[in-house]
Amino acid sequence: MNLFDVYPLFDITPVRAQGMYVWDDKGTRYLDLYGGHAVISIGHSHPHYVKRLARQLYDIGFYSNSVQMPLQQELAQKLGEISEYPDYNLFLCNSGAEANENALKLASFHTGRKKVIAFKAGFHGRTSAAVAVTDNPGIIAPINQTENVIFLPLNDIQAFADALQEHGQQLAAVIVEGMQGVGGVHLPGTNFLKALANGCESVGALLILDEVQSGYGRSGKFFAHQYADVQPHLITVAKGMGNGFPIGGVLVHPEIEAKHGMLGTTFGGNYLACAAALAVLEVMDNEKLMQNAQQVGGWLIDELKKMPGVHEVRGKGLMIGVELEEPFAPVRQQLLKTYKIFTGTSSDKNTLRLLPPLCIGSEEAEKFISAFEAVICKTQPQEL
Ligand code: PMP
Repeated sequence: MNLFDVYPLFDITPVRAQGMYVWDDKGTRYLDLYGGHAVISIGHSHPHYVKRLARQLYDIGFYSNSVQMPLQQELAQKLGEISEYPDYNLFLCNSGAEANENALKLASFHTGRKKVIAFKAGFHGRTSAAVAVTDNPGIIAPINQTENVIFLPLNDIQAFADALQEHGQQLAAVIVEGMQGVGGVHLPGTNFLKALANGCESVGALLILDEVQSGYGRSGKFFAHQYADVQPHLITVAKGMGNGFPIGGVLVHPEIEAKHGMLGTTFGGNYLACAAALAVLEVMDNEKLMQNAQQVGGWLIDELKKMPGVHEVRGKGLMIGVELEEPFAPVRQQLLKTYKIFTGTSSDKNTLRLLPPLCIGSEEAEKFISAFEAVICKTQPQEL
């Protein structure tokens, strides 16, 4: 059997990783400023994470959601504290798409309505409701097409007010990313997020903040929307949550009532996933990774803004979009080939994305800036 060929692949085979670095099968070391697509939050193979997962596997790896699992409660407690949402409830699942799928279902159950407002260039996943609110016709199969989604331009408060006027009474939810990732790191403004929160409140719809990529400390706060001081009804998380172990979740406002059987999953919240997620939160706390994201991310953004050939730098903390004056592909290729640095793409051909592990130090950040400058200025490759 062959693999179903849906991914364009680099000719690199990683076999080992530690902290900020990945080694391939030939022993070449790569600096990882991509974090496996914003997934590696506390660093590759962190010793505390490895120990906690291994110990858990020796005890018990899996049982279904039909028995008491104190680890789930421990995770909810810790996540509530560190995210500053102690009175929300947690539904655990396995991925970002699944988190959004469940959030959209919850909003629809809760309001008894069907319509959703989503935003241009937004990405929320590939399952049925999640892909329907994603602005990419190329990944929406005929079975996922629906009349229920209204796409509006991000940050257009007037367009939102007009849509509320027209559809407010049928509206179940508004879904927006804390910072748009796949679309090329576009930030919803503070006033825009406040308008969304107030608008939802006024028509009885729920505000869903997709923090799958921008959450878990990446922005320098636990959630990117916390810069705007709004309180969504539903917050979705995944990527950085398990540092590579598949886990996702929905943080649910306390006024939204649960009913047995309303949502469910076989694997969601299993022992290993909870152990991984707890290890992540423990390390984030002990090693002050949110502060590090703010500090090193702020420095990277300032340095990148000074570079020639850079049209705009967008982002917060360690979620950074570097919009070049030209397509990013040759720059990314050279960073990888010559300087052995992984970076990320976006759906905007000029915008390179940086999503490094939150433990990046100033030495690695400087190394990236030197390499980036050399590539942009087309100077001779230098030894870094
Ligand atoms: N929401 C956002 C904001 C994302 O960036 C992604 C993944 N790129 C998803 C949802 C989907 O997550 P997953 O691939 O885990 O289903």
